[in-house]
Amino acid sequence: MAQSHPILNRLVDLQQTNFEVVDVQVKEEEIIWKIRHKKEAIYICSKCGENVLQCHDKKWIELKDVPLGNKKTQWLVERARILCTCSNNVRVEKLSFRSSHHELTKRFVDYVENVLCTKMFTVADVARLFDLDYGVVYKIDHEVLRRLIQLVQIPDPINISVDEKSFKKGHSYVTIVTDCDSKKVIWVSEGNEKKSLDQFFLVLGPERCLRIKTVSKDLWKPYAASCTEYIPQATQVADPFHVVKRLNEAIDQSRKELSVGSELQVSKRKTISNMQWVLRYKQENMKPKHLESLEYLAKINEPLYNAYLHKEMFFEFFTFKPSEVKDAEKFLIAWIVDAYKIGLLALQEFALYIERNTDVLLNIVITQRSSAISEGINRKISVIKSMAYGYRNIQYFMLKIMQRCGVLGSLWTPAAC
Ligand SMILES: [Zn+2]
Repeated sequence: MAQSHPILNRLVDLQQTNFEVVDVQVKEEEIIWKIRHKKEAIYICSKCGENVLQCHDKKWIELKDVPLGNKKTQWLVERARILCTCSNNVRVEKLSFRSSHHELTKRFVDYVENVLCTKMFTVADVARLFDLDYGVVYKIDHEVLRRLIQLVQIPDPINISVDEKSFKKGHSYVTIVTDCDSKKVIWVSEGNEKKSLDQFFLVLGPERCLRIKTVSKDLWKPYAASCTEYIPQATQVADPFHVVKRLNEAIDQSRKELSVGSELQVSKRKTISNMQWVLRYKQENMKPKHLESLEYLAKINEPLYNAYLHKEMFFEFFTFKPSEVKDAEKFLIAWIVDAYKIGLLALQEFALYIERNTDVLLNIVITQRSSAISEGINRKISVIKSMAYGYRNIQYFMLKIMQRCGVLGSLWTPAAC
């Protein structure tokens, strides 16, 4: 190609630079663009940003660019080394179209960022899609999220929900605050201690704290202490999602105790051991074979069968209207008394937990808070966890939660040069 063509320069966004396309090779699987300095080029020092007229030497470097259809795109770029007065060393010139951290064009990084932020693609998906190294895409993702988090402003929440989520198989935790009205995660911090939630209230400031009306949460004690200190005016509501989760865990614990350490026959213990999921289903959702095994359970172990029925009955608590709060209280007390009578240790512990937190439970009825928000967020975070092959970096995990369950992704714009 004797002369550069303006259309080609426009295709690779070189119009505003000191560079031009001098050749394009179209091969079976890739397109190679050869890019050189314009004849009277001025070089930009990568250290001080000043223009430099003299070049020390030139070298060809390779940059990957956005693929064209099913063809990969490679840029071969002539890069100068210069002697700038800002330092006595030889410096490379600044290339405005090159990404600052990777051997990629900046517009390619922008494109990858856009896909990562606005589509439901995993890092692995994007790495495969663009034939890039997993580590490179991971770094791009982490970098863009760190940049976007700087732009996030916490809205003025009125009703919030606080939750913890485990990281690295329960070895460490993060604290998550959701705005119940917008249904978006607005805060994530490390740990599940009082200070983890304190941080949120401190950032929010006393004025906005005072405007919070309700906080729903797991009855995890450190969170209650933080809420009492910073938002004493807010009604503390038990999160129905966690109450049900704990109840299911209590039933499951009873099942485990009976299937391992009890005096039951081995065959019966085995049957009980396999009933984990049956005991989770609501009776109305059960298939005939599940109903059968439930009937069998009634024959071989009455306490566990009764515990299951008693669990089913608990859901009635969530159907009371605010005007029926007295009836709801009576229901709860009767439920607790009957739970003790069944005689299973784990269920008794659950009953004790309910007994100690009756007020915050009754606030569920008063505020009509449902478990939908917590369920939704928990489901999304489980997806985030399963999509990443084990998050090793807790900061990245926290950013991903803010992206997938909050507003982070929608804030995306290309980085300024
Ligand atoms: Zn310089």
